[in-house]
Amino acid sequence: MEAYFWGTRGSLPAAFDGAQLSIKLHEALRLSRTRQLNTDADINDFIASLPFSVRNTYGVNTSCVEIRGGDDVILCDAGTGLRSFGHHASASGPATFHIFLSHPHWDHIQGFPFFIPAYIPGNNVVIYGGHPDIRGVFEAQQKSPFFPVSLSDMAASIRFEHLTPGNQYQIAGVRVDVISQQHPGGSFGYRFSRNGCTIVYSTDSEHAGPPVWKPDYPFIEFFRHADILIFDAQYALSDAMGPKEHWGHSSNVIAVELAVAASVRHLVLYHNEHTATDVALDKFLNDTRRYLSHFQPNSTMTIHLAYDGLKLPISSNNTHHCRVNCR
Ligand SMILES: [Zn+2]
Ligand SMILES: [Zn+2]
Repeated sequence: MEAYFWGTRGSLPAAFDGAQLSIKLHEALRLSRTRQLNTDADINDFIASLPFSVRNTYGVNTSCVEIRGGDDVILCDAGTGLRSFGHHASASGPATFHIFLSHPHWDHIQGFPFFIPAYIPGNNVVIYGGHPDIRGVFEAQQKSPFFPVSLSDMAASIRFEHLTPGNQYQIAGVRVDVISQQHPGGSFGYRFSRNGCTIVYSTDSEHAGPPVWKPDYPFIEFFRHADILIFDAQYALSDAMGPKEHWGHSSNVIAVELAVAASVRHLVLYHNEHTATDVALDKFLNDTRRYLSHFQPNSTMTIHLAYDGLKLPISSNNTHHCRVNCR
């Protein structure tokens, strides 16, 4: 299995502007002063040596993660990252796309009207979720005056399936478990398992209060031994416990604590704060890694911060030991 991140930003698409580009160029040129850059290979080596926030960007698209390794396409959420996925996928032939919806907040559905495969006859799109009347939500999003093309005018076959938390499903050759999460209006997390490998997608989920610290907190079992845990860590602890309490999101600290308690192998901080710059997100990741090494010194877990274009493959061998190859 493999996770590919098409959209990682929380709440709304956070446009990248010229001022941010200028800062990156300035920093790259400043760092180049001591380097001999005589050949293209020298330049490539220098670029590869730069901090992530200088040579790349965490991206602007809202939630969409592709879970690869099933019999059909599996996607989590339909934020603006779905548009990018659709451009990538539209060249291939008729296909079935299974979209698992965490919840219908705008940043998780707003890519669907721009999802090219939904306009192509012969394609099948199945949208799963635990909320009632998801079809009504998708229809409303594309009603006049909000959008010029209605859901019924999209040429692919589009249907909706209701999932119940606690039940197990087999979809596209993948076992899918569902859990109900704490978020304004409710949200759902998904655990995908195949051939001994597991990827958990759990975003827009607030973990707060005394139940979180109990050994029988249900999320610990839901995350147990996941190879990859994609976790809503939009906030620093001071925000999650302060002015943004009850906003429905979690912190990097609770992400580490729950992931360690569940023996997760690779934690991916997700639903990135839309006001955070790339430099701030680099620091957020480094702070989180430092927290892990300081307070959980025996943990072998690795921590990533999701960005648009991140690919995390899992390879498994006969003993079902999985390995993630990461940057
Ligand atoms: Zn969200
Ligand atoms: Zn939300």
